[in-house]
Amino acid sequence: MIDLGTFCKRRARFLKELGGTAAVIPAAPLVTHHADCEYPFRQNSDFWYLTGFDEPDAVALFLPHRPVGERFVLFVHPKESGIEIWSGSRWGTEGAVNHFGADIAHPLSELPKLLGQYLSGSEGIAFRVGKHRKLQMMVLDFWADQLEKLQRSGSAPVTLKAPCPILHQMRLFKEPEELDRLRVAGRISAEAHEIAREVACPGMNERQLQAIIEQYFLENGARGPAYSSIVAGGDNACVLHYTANNSVLRDGDLLLIDAGCSLDDYYNGDVTRTFPVNGRFSGEQLALYEIVLAAQKVAVSSVCPGQNAEKVHNAAVRVLVEGLLHLGLLQGSVESVIEQGAYRHIYMHRTGHWLGLDVHDVGAYRLGEYPVELQPGMVLTVEPGLYISDRLPVPDGQPLIEERWKGIGIRVEDDVAVTDEGHEVLTSAAATAVSDLQKKG
Ligand code: CA
Repeated sequence: MIDLGTFCKRRARFLKELGGTAAVIPAAPLVTHHADCEYPFRQNSDFWYLTGFDEPDAVALFLPHRPVGERFVLFVHPKESGIEIWSGSRWGTEGAVNHFGADIAHPLSELPKLLGQYLSGSEGIAFRVGKHRKLQMMVLDFWADQLEKLQRSGSAPVTLKAPCPILHQMRLFKEPEELDRLRVAGRISAEAHEIAREVACPGMNERQLQAIIEQYFLENGARGPAYSSIVAGGDNACVLHYTANNSVLRDGDLLLIDAGCSLDDYYNGDVTRTFPVNGRFSGEQLALYEIVLAAQKVAVSSVCPGQNAEKVHNAAVRVLVEGLLHLGLLQGSVESVIEQGAYRHIYMHRTGHWLGLDVHDVGAYRLGEYPVELQPGMVLTVEPGLYISDRLPVPDGQPLIEERWKGIGIRVEDDVAVTDEGHEVLTSAAATAVSDLQKKG
């Protein structure tokens, strides 16, 4: 787990970056699944990043305008044995101070009364509008009051801004402790893929493999899957977010598995592997697999400081298009196909995303006109694929797809950290080489 001192350092930096602005950062609520049953609790990543506090509904205030010893205030559910007997122990206000390092803690019921007092005297308020209706009402009411008073008092918090630009810029660069956790998440995720491939065989249900993968996550100390696992045999793999996972695996099909674990402190793995269910590629499957693997390798090897995610994407696209032209699945010149996007009926997504506390992690990809430059500490996925089906129309000028190619969906995805020297693949424990994916005998 991330050390509590790390959260303390983050708060100090966040307070400094806020200048004279006070920030209001809410925890996630519990979400109803149906009737009176709730989904497993998932803390809000911004709130977690600053507090390490894993209970719902809490509100953290960051108050750089207050004296030292009053700058990190937590409002939490109080200890209450009648509720804790049902839903488990709470830290309460005492735990918030003694364990989580809050300067001051209050029961949540006192928030309406105290919020304004704490925010008074700040130059502005940093709060994410549009996500937390009840808290938003309190913040906006306070803000409106202040605007009314402005004329009389001459000073009041008059700006309302989003905390995300500061926080998400911090989260984009992973600390050494975070990289360690992402290595663990990547390793467990990749090992689960190895186990799934060993046991997969025709006649199994996709769901059985999902169970094996997620069992491995849990047995190895993860909280569970980081996102809905995709276990997609044959044509199901051409549906990018296929999560039904309820088909029988067929002899002769490929199997695409996109699954990663989430650790107790929410760091995630995100891994995709594709392999033949029966351990033997058909000619068409192998031809396409080798293109995707080559594209993935070129894209991964292009990850280094000074590059950007667009160049990584473009490197993958070029290899994919060259391969598809060679197989006759596209026609024209590499440049014209890329320029016109005439490959997008076969490769319709981007080649990666930031990875961290969120699977699709925060952080800008572009700053105005310019793609964000890769720098040490950033972590991204690299995941080119090819998906051959009838679902999207073939663009004008491109060949119709022969039946023998259809129902083949392939993606290879690794998690890659940018380092001083270049990059580090966090998920290399899962094999990708054709020789490793084929079953002997
Ligand atoms: Ca994925």
